[in-house]
Amino acid sequence: MRHTWCPACSHLTPARTKLTSRHVFESCPAAQEERIKLGINVFLTSYRAAGRSAAAAFFDYVNGFQVDGEKVCMDEHLSRGEALLQLTDSWAATWEMQD
Ligand SMILES: [Zn+2]
Repeated sequence: MRHTWCPACSHLTPARTKLTSRHVFESCPAAQEERIKLGINVFLTSYRAAGRSAAAAFFDYVNGFQVDGEKVCMDEHLSRGEALLQLTDSWAATWEMQD
């Protein structure tokens, strides 16, 4: 099943939100708690503070760069992969139950 609109936050926001991979990473209110727990919020905030775009933050997070353009160590890169999986899992759990 493919969703065009985010199924997790349709009841949380007045306007429907287009579902993209970045939506869950950056802004889905249903994933907010998990983003904080996984340190993704801090990561996004550091990019905002540095005047970098959210698109750059997403790209760097996935590709293993940090805000100063340096490559992160392998452990950090792997743990980001884990964090993304965990974020997606817990996001899916917020709405899969309702089906
Ligand atoms: Zn959403």
